[in-house]
Parts: sequence; C-alpha cells; structure tokens
Amino acid sequence: MREALIAILLGLISPIGYADTPPSGAFCANLPRPGWAAFERHHASTDWFQVYALADGLFAIAEPYQWQEVISYLIVGQDRALLFDSGNGMGDIRAVVDRLTNLPVTVLASHSHIDHVGGHWQFADILAPDTPFTRQRAKGRANAAVREEASPEALCRPLPVGISADTHHIKPFHVVSHVVDGTRIDLGGRVLKVMMIPGHTPDSLALFDPSEGRLFTGDSYYKGPIWLFAAETDHAKYAASIARLAALAPKLTTVHGAHNEPVSDPSELVKVRDAFAAVMRGTAKAKPADGQQITYPFESFSLILRAGHPVWPR
Ligand SMILES: [Zn+2]
Repeated sequence: MREALIAILLGLISPIGYADTPPSGAFCANLPRPGWAAFERHHASTDWFQVYALADGLFAIAEPYQWQEVISYLIVGQDRALLFDSGNGMGDIRAVVDRLTNLPVTVLASHSHIDHVGGHWQFADILAPDTPFTRQRAKGRANAAVREEASPEALCRPLPVGISADTHHIKPFHVVSHVVDGTRIDLGGRVLKVMMIPGHTPDSLALFDPSEGRLFTGDSYYKGPIWLFAAETDHAKYAASIARLAALAPKLTTVHGAHNEPVSDPSELVKVRDAFAAVMRGTAKAKPADGQQITYPFESFSLILRAGHPVWPR
C-alpha cells in the first residue's frame, strides 16, 4: 500500500463526506503510463478495470483511475485459473474474471495490503500463507482505515456504482488452504511456484512460472516508488528477499509488478537489490525528508523509507 501518510493527512482535514466532490487526483496527469502501449486493451475492460492480454493465458487487470494504480493478474491454465491479487475492492473484479475464463478460479494475494485483497470476498477458493499479519488482514478493514482510498484526490474517475468514500471498506475473506515457500500450484499445463519473500509485509510472496520465465513480484518490486515505509515492513528480510529475486534474474524473461506498469526487465531486480543495499549501508543519496518519508531516487525506481530508519554497519 502506498500513499499511507497522505491518506492519514487527508483523513484529518476531510472529516466530512466526499459525495459531491469530483475526482481530482494529481496522478491522473501521468495516465496512461507508457508501459501499457505495447499491449492491446481487452474487451473485458470496464469503466473501472482496464484488462490487457499480456500473453497466452495471461491477463493484467489494472485499476489505473485510483492512485494505487494496482495491477492484478489472471493466469489461466488448462484446468483452472489463478487470480494473483484481487484489487482495491471498489469494482466487480469477479465479473471481469468471469468474462475472461469459465474455469474454476483460485485466488492468491502477493500480500495482504488493502489494494491486493479488496476483491477476495467475491471468491471461495482462497490460498494464503499462514502468518499473524495475514490472519489479521483477512478480517477486513473498516471504512475509517480505507476511506481516503476512495476520496476525490485518490481518483481520476467516478467510483463504480454502489461504492462511496463514506461506505467503502475491505470485506473479510476466508482462507481455505495455506501456501508455504515452494508450494506448487498446478493450473494444468502450467505450474506456478510460490516463493515466500517477506519484507514489504510479513506475508509477501512472489509467483514464479519457470516454463515461461515469468516472475510476479507483488509490491517487492514494481516500476516506480517502492514503499518500504509501513510499520510491518522488515528491512533485513526485504534485503534477503530482493537478493533472492535478483539471483533468479538470469532465469527470467519478464517481471510483472503489482503497480503502475505490467512489464519490467529482470535486470531491474538486480538494480533494486544493489540500491537497497546502498541505502542500508548509508551510501545512497536521499532527497530531503518529507515529513516521516525519506525517498532515495534511482534511475527507474525509487525507494521510500521512514526517516531515521536504521542503517547497517559498513
Ligand atoms: Zn500495493
């Protein structure tokens, strides 16, 4: 989840309803991001979800009109499909998925932040790791914790019918089976491997498709500002996890992150590993701190940490 601090501040100055205020997100000026131009928009798209076929049996389901610019992925095998992340819970992602496949759908989140589990409640077959953080987040999130995600500043388009900032919340979901590091998910003709990569959250995971060399990285890597700011983020674990992903780069053709743009080059994982190590050694250059946030800019991404974060011995 990004924008956490902005959300808190907006919450303090906007205690009243938003119903009559039109969408006004500053990020709207950046849309559409260039990475989408290589792909054709799929007819399953709606006013809220933009669907793109990235490859045979692989769809990106994006929510570009909300400031998270989150991307969920539907991976379709011969026997069943896997929905990797379920979005913000503001649109009807189930209806979109049903337009893309008739096969049974299993849902797995890259981690349990609100913009990745919002649509889980619409599905019955839900996999997740068994961590205290996951168990807590499976209970849902109340309106007070997420209302700013549906505020005018968070949006470029009106919310889907039936959703408002005053009522939006994350509904609870029920996990039916647990995954661990190394769990194989066989979709029929396509086997995905779960890699536990804690750090961004205690339950962060990546999905590796060895047959095509694809890696789905959730929020541990995507193109843009990578948030390592939350209380539940563990820097030592993140360093080990991003190093593990970077070590996989020679076997990869494509990396699919969970925000902004759907495709990145595997070499970016190596760059993030090295950049994060420099941040932790105290040798990376930061922008002046903005409140509690400190941003380390790099060429194709930036790292956002909490000001005053610990630095490791050189
Ligand atoms: Zn996220």
